[in-house]
Amino acid sequence: MTTIQSRKMLIDGELVNASNGATLPAENPTTEQVIGDLPDATAEDVDRAVAAARRASPEWSGTPWTQRGRLLRDYADLLDEHRDELAELDALDAGLPVASMRADVTSAANEIRYFAGLAGETKGQTIPSGPDQLTYTEFVPYPVVARIVPFNHPIKFISSKVAAALAAGAPVVAKPGEQSSLSALRLAELVKDLFPVGVLNIITGSGATAGAGLSGHPDVPRVAFTGSVPTGARIMAAGAPTIKHVSLELGGKNPMIVFPDAEAERAAVASVAAMNFARSMGQSCGSSSRVFVHRDVKDRFVNALVKRLSELKVGDPMRDDTDMGPIAFRAHYEKVCSYVEAGIEEGATLAHGGKRPAGLDTGFFIEPTAFTDVTMDMRIAKEEIFGPVVSVLDWDDYDEMIAQANDVEFGLTGNVWTNDISQALRTARHIDSGYISVNGTGKRPTGSPFGGFKSSGLGKESSLDELLSYGRNKSVTVIL
Ligand code: NAD
Repeated sequence: MTTIQSRKMLIDGELVNASNGATLPAENPTTEQVIGDLPDATAEDVDRAVAAARRASPEWSGTPWTQRGRLLRDYADLLDEHRDELAELDALDAGLPVASMRADVTSAANEIRYFAGLAGETKGQTIPSGPDQLTYTEFVPYPVVARIVPFNHPIKFISSKVAAALAAGAPVVAKPGEQSSLSALRLAELVKDLFPVGVLNIITGSGATAGAGLSGHPDVPRVAFTGSVPTGARIMAAGAPTIKHVSLELGGKNPMIVFPDAEAERAAVASVAAMNFARSMGQSCGSSSRVFVHRDVKDRFVNALVKRLSELKVGDPMRDDTDMGPIAFRAHYEKVCSYVEAGIEEGATLAHGGKRPAGLDTGFFIEPTAFTDVTMDMRIAKEEIFGPVVSVLDWDDYDEMIAQANDVEFGLTGNVWTNDISQALRTARHIDSGYISVNGTGKRPTGSPFGGFKSSGLGKESSLDELLSYGRNKSVTVIL
């Protein structure tokens, strides 16, 4: 059994345990064994981290953007240098296939370099205001940003989602999901001496104490959150008494729409990629979990879908040739399994999977699963499962199908498959979501703004919008 040496949080430039020594266990979802632990930050630890960030603010916000950009590029290089090690930690701790975690580290480093280059956009304007006046705006970074992220892309989120705030000149206190914190703790060791003291603090622990302590902290004016809708709602409420600027990247139940002119087999293979079966066992917010397939091509689509799913190799996430590992942790595994049962009970047809894979008796494994004959009154069509379960719904009336596609609380992504460009653009307009792919798998180029509509969130990330959201514009009028 691999055991990870106990690791510490980064607060105020020091690697520390929780102030009361409390820890949470880190469980390997492949072996179901405890492989290490993580500090369970207390309210006092949160206070220390927030105070450290605030102390670091005057110097960091006054650091020339070119220098901030240089440090961010060094940060990205550090990730690249430690790519394999960090990817292996995520594979052990969260069951995510190691090859896709390497790709996550590379993608995180690219996003950090993007924001390093963008840091100079934290500039102001002059406003024409007459011959005897000068009016200008100045970008004022927030003195501290709380960055709370979920369990599903552990190293990618904890490392890259601090980059925009740091580029903007705002110190950060970051917290990963408690189910997959080991790579964040290794990151804490790696960056300890990179940024000035207090500029980047990484704390670990429960949502109830570390997360809620941060998001409700009176000295934290800016909270950027990625996670579930219920937690997002709690974070908004926690921010209300001190009028925090809150941005939210939340869940999805994303439609993919296949038109009769699309090549059904290609669309089916793309739907497996868009559902992120292989990369993260469907544990991705942008996954296309509801596929609306036109009745004319449904049989061809479903045959190709089942064929592709049966090719996916489920097993040890530490192996390079594994497509799917286990679900990240026990409670989530049980939730995913309960949705499979609900689909069967509600009358959907189980076209593939739904069981523990043969030969994998230990670990939170489930076969890639597809339901057909799904209708919008079923829970599997409405609720976010966040696991390797795709629902196929058929359609022949466009307006009815679009109404169904939009008939969920979420509005994160959408995916359109057709060769008719006008139809594609019309449908992209009609889907009430924040990010649409046409004839793709949902892969996003660096710099493309990402963020949900409806309950899927508030604000846009991975773009200039995100950088600028970590500061305020101050307007100054000078009478000459
Ligand atoms: P979660 O909401 O349970 O937890 C996310 C983070 O919030 C964790 O760090 C957790 O400790 C913390 N937290 C929990 N309670 C808190 C509270 N009261 N106050 C402050 N912080 C608290 O989400 P999860 O289960 O880790 O992640 C899965 C969810 O994240 C899914 O809904 C998924 O769609 C969503 N997600 C969205 C995006 C996006 O970009 N839109 C990306 C990835 C995941």
